[in-house]
Amino acid sequence: MSFEPLGLSTELLRAIADQGYSNPTPIQSQAIPVILSGKDVLAGAQTGTGKTAGFTLPLLHRLSQPSGPRQRRYIRALILTPTRELAAQVSESVKIYGKYLSLRSAVVFGGVSINPQISRLRSGVDILVATPGRLLDHVGRNTINLSKLEVLVLDEADRMLDMGFIHDIRKVLALLPPQRQNLLFSATFSKEIQSLANGLLDSPTLIEVARRNTAAESVSQTIHPVDSKRKRELLSFLIGSRNWQQVLVFTRTKHGANRLAQQLEKDGITTAAIHGNKSQGARTRALSNFKQGSVRVLVATDIAARGLDIDQLPHVVNFDLPNVPEDYVHRIGRTGRAGNEGQAVSLVCVDEHKFLRDIERLIKRDINREMIPGYEPDPTIKPVPIQTGRGRKSPGGQKNRRSRPKKARGLEAGRKSSRPARPRKRQSK
Ligand code: AMP
Repeated sequence: MSFEPLGLSTELLRAIADQGYSNPTPIQSQAIPVILSGKDVLAGAQTGTGKTAGFTLPLLHRLSQPSGPRQRRYIRALILTPTRELAAQVSESVKIYGKYLSLRSAVVFGGVSINPQISRLRSGVDILVATPGRLLDHVGRNTINLSKLEVLVLDEADRMLDMGFIHDIRKVLALLPPQRQNLLFSATFSKEIQSLANGLLDSPTLIEVARRNTAAESVSQTIHPVDSKRKRELLSFLIGSRNWQQVLVFTRTKHGANRLAQQLEKDGITTAAIHGNKSQGARTRALSNFKQGSVRVLVATDIAARGLDIDQLPHVVNFDLPNVPEDYVHRIGRTGRAGNEGQAVSLVCVDEHKFLRDIERLIKRDINREMIPGYEPDPTIKPVPIQTGRGRKSPGGQKNRRSRPKKARGLEAGRKSSRPARPRKRQSK
């Protein structure tokens, strides 16, 4: 099926053709007609499914239709995202797909100066892409008026809730006119998402493309058992011996990301780290160097990597397994995107066996184990419980003592560090 029958304007079809897309992805062919009809949507779709174009294209179409004379521009559509990176990428998509239309858009997120954002808003915009914290800062300064909003999009709503944005979302909702179209996109459907959707959406059409919590099928997944102390050495060996040129590596902590990046650099592998303690400039630079190929390895924490749009990423490595099993699905969703084959490799030490069992239970399959000769784990090493986030149980079944630093949580989410951070909640399934 091509894009033509979906009912999009010729300007949008031209922009789609410029991107080289010949056929809509499943989320696009299902969501576009429903959104064009003005209905509310509850969509279950992971990153990599083409969901951004799935809501951006019909949104642009609707806003570009003649709607009577207007004195001045006002914000007609708001797209809320959990992270700065995702906000920047969605905003880029709005520009790309809307390049033949006369709509104006802006993006606002924390970690950068607010003044250029204010100037842009003053000049009038139709579409605003925002992270919740900075959006509320603008509302407090009266630089944003949402009273005439026509369409609200919550992108990666599950992540927004995980990152503690529910109160900010509710504050934003209270500023919106009751008559509007609501689109909620989420990779997973927890009880919290259901309850948010129930309060927000009016007889929504449910669209679900990837099966719930299943890993993308175009991704080959492998576990390499290895001792914790030898993980870095094994990673360098795999990158070198298999000649991997573009590798996204996940670590559980920011400190771990920095340390690993330094060690890989010492091994002669160009590496950058991306996490919430890095400035926005450093993060953007690292991502662009990685995309261009001047950096071979990008080491990232889960939250910093959320929503990164890197086309055809061939290799994802879990240097540490995530303690939240859903994060595994999100991580490996970075590879094998839009029909390309991808490889997800996890380096698993004895301390992480409980995490591995939780992941395999979630994805409902056993992941293939492959021992790398020379790196077999020492069977005499006993597991040590890994300290995880606040209130969660560690593999040993104890309560955790250490929680994520509050300041970092706020920064990673694109919030001002002076605002109180909120607990990162997660449903255990
Ligand atoms: P998303 O899930 O929105 O992050 O999109 C994942 C990737 O798929 C992005 O790099 C898009 O540029 C790409 N993409 C979106 N729609 C299509 C399409 N119809 N055909 C091919 N690639 C697409």
